[in-house]
Amino acid sequence: MPPSAILVSIFTLFLALLAPAVRSMTLTDDDLRNIPSPGDDFDINNGKLLAPILIPRVAGTEGSLRAQQHFVDFFRDNLPEWAIEWQNTTSKTPVTGDKDVPFSNLIFRRDPPGANPGEVGRLTLVAHYDSKYEPEGFIGAIDSAAPCAMLMHVARSIEHALKAKWEADDGLDEPKGVQIIFLDGEEAFLHWTDTDSLYGARALAEEWDNQFHGAMSTYRTPLDSISLFLLLDLLGTSDPRVPSYFLTTHWAYKAMAQLEKRMRDLGILESKPANPFLPESDKEAGRFGRSFVDDDHRPFMERGVDILHIIPSPFPKVWHKMEDDGEHLDLPTTRDWAKITTAFVVEWMEIQDQMPKLPAAKPKRSVTVKTESQRTEL
Ligand SMILES: [Zn+2]
Repeated sequence: MPPSAILVSIFTLFLALLAPAVRSMTLTDDDLRNIPSPGDDFDINNGKLLAPILIPRVAGTEGSLRAQQHFVDFFRDNLPEWAIEWQNTTSKTPVTGDKDVPFSNLIFRRDPPGANPGEVGRLTLVAHYDSKYEPEGFIGAIDSAAPCAMLMHVARSIEHALKAKWEADDGLDEPKGVQIIFLDGEEAFLHWTDTDSLYGARALAEEWDNQFHGAMSTYRTPLDSISLFLLLDLLGTSDPRVPSYFLTTHWAYKAMAQLEKRMRDLGILESKPANPFLPESDKEAGRFGRSFVDDDHRPFMERGVDILHIIPSPFPKVWHKMEDDGEHLDLPTTRDWAKITTAFVVEWMEIQDQMPKLPAAKPKRSVTVKTESQRTEL
């Protein structure tokens, strides 16, 4: 064997050794086919996930309490391993005079069992659950009932695989967790100002910035533990165009855009948009400006947290109108966002090998195999 052939052989061996590690970072086509759809659970009248949130849910009202109860019941009944945390504050608002309006953020967290909280970096998935004070009766389906339902679908879709992964390997090497934050009080009561908006986000970012883990911890504070703050907002109408807002997290945007493209090419998304939801993968570094859409991420971003903001620009036509209700949702788009986000989280948490196999993902189905439901059961 000439020296060059030996070199080639060594290189081939090197590639072969590297391959499993490289492969585990990205999802295979079968992994993508295996991402569950929310199916009928996004039905606007009786879907288990979405329908209960399609009510007015202004902070401090009965509807807000019902939405909170829906989230808590869902996690308690279906995902009991997720820790539930409330963060309650009060604030005056321009329309409620001297009254202290209560704001409640809900955090659902899944860390590797036995992990020290100061050692866990958490993928943080966020949507606001409050609805706008006026017009009276406003529902806010894209703003942000549908994004909340998408995050519930993500949680139930990954739980089995997270558990299986952490049972096989305790996950304590470089602990990675995931948390879902349902924020209250995003909407202004009167006009959007620094003090009349983002009530929940401002309170939570401040509190987490001032809670300290042990002195020797990898992450100083719960804010520091956020590996990526992925905020979904105004999603659920057809043909969304979501730009890449931040150069610092453009790599994460590209990862999600790539998942969208691959899922579309495989024919496993339902919507047929004229353009991709995420069209800016090729955006050059020099084209990132300083402008962004003001939203729940700002109090976190100002404290140095990495943000991936998934919000269309321009905003959907129904934005802040009475028409932003269940009937105006485009359900194929809404379900597709749930699938794309789930794929992103599966890739991030590296749990594709543990994801339950859907029948469609099997190359050949034996007649003896019992047909399972296409979607994750609630
Ligand atoms: Zn809004």
